Amino acid sequence: MKRKLLAAVLAIPVIYLGWLGFESFGSRPYVNATPPAPAQNALEVEGVYHIHTKFSDGHASVDELTAQASRERLDFLILTDHGNPNFESLRSQGRKDGVLVLAGSELSVNRGHLVALGFRTPDRNFSQKAEDAVPEIQALGGFAVIAHPYSKVKWSWGDVSVYSGFEIINADTMFKNNVGRVLPYLPLLLFRSRLPLIRMLEHPKVNLAKWDQHNTTAVVYGYFSADAHLYYRAIFSLLRLHVLLDEPLADGFDAAAAQVYAALRKGRFFNAIEAAAGARGFRFKALAAGGATFRMGDTIPAGEADAAGPIRFEAWAPFSFATEIHLVRGGRTIASARNGVLTAEAQGPGVYRVEVFLKERSPLSTDIPWIISNPIFLRKD
Ligand SMILES: [Zn+2]
Ligand SMILES: [Zn+2]
Repeated sequence: MKRKLLAAVLAIPVIYLGWLGFESFGSRPYVNATPPAPAQNALEVEGVYHIHTKFSDGHASVDELTAQASRERLDFLILTDHGNPNFESLRSQGRKDGVLVLAGSELSVNRGHLVALGFRTPDRNFSQKAEDAVPEIQALGGFAVIAHPYSKVKWSWGDVSVYSGFEIINADTMFKNNVGRVLPYLPLLLFRSRLPLIRMLEHPKVNLAKWDQHNTTAVVYGYFSADAHLYYRAIFSLLRLHVLLDEPLADGFDAAAAQVYAALRKGRFFNAIEAAAGARGFRFKALAAGGATFRMGDTIPAGEADAAGPIRFEAWAPFSFATEIHLVRGGRTIASARNGVLTAEAQGPGVYRVEVFLKERSPLSTDIPWIISNPIFLRKD
């Protein structure tokens, strides 16, 4: 009897380790076997947005971060240390270890937390009232993104048309909500595994619904936000922005920073849960019958749609693993494709965006969007 009990007790860790091994090896991230052509590849840069360093409540210095970002082959990092603004963090900008270090600041304002980006260093603090801070940021060439609207520090709404962006996923909020889910994977954290982080992500339904609602009257771009404070290397591989440029990234810091900010300001980027699969090469466009092409972030003038025929949307997911592309209008899927290319005609005015799902055995749940594009807006007169 005792022996049987002992055998049963010993079997538990063996079964557990077997399961853990199966989970971690069975859900390795997909690597694309058909990477984009070099010319197209040079116009796509990848980076991580919303990072805290030792200049506020993060646990690493900028030098430690760039060393890790360089190993993860990131093109840029966007630091967002707390402060109205955080002057030390602003002074740390530059190119280090081949990584472009851009610094904004996460402002504490009356409505919640607001991320200011792309501004020239002010000579005094920004206002703590959101409605006053935004024009101050804009006067210095910058723009503002609403941070973690549904975390403990909630955003109180008001007029959203003055903001350039909105965090549609905030990893820190999701980790705090779902920390229990990491328990079965605790040993993997020692190996900086991405799997426990992916398991803590959930479908950002509430954020997406609010974002779509705002975009019926405003133009607000969606950001995947790391909100990283520690465990940086794994988080750098988790959520990324893919920014699409007109020219390859410049060598000089000022010129390169201007290129990335110009693309963010126009919504020329898409978001991916990169730890599940490399998302390089995804594209979304609209074509007017008259020949004009519109990119992510663009607004198609009403006249364009009526001129010579309907607007056609095209989305490409040129990957060597199974995906499902959804064309979403006003929050609802209106067309989908499983062969890597989606084409669909516009169904009248609306806000059109794309979600891509992984459809093979994936470390990411097949119900959570792996890629979320920025919208193309088709407006009424
Ligand atoms: Zn915050
Ligand atoms: Zn933050």
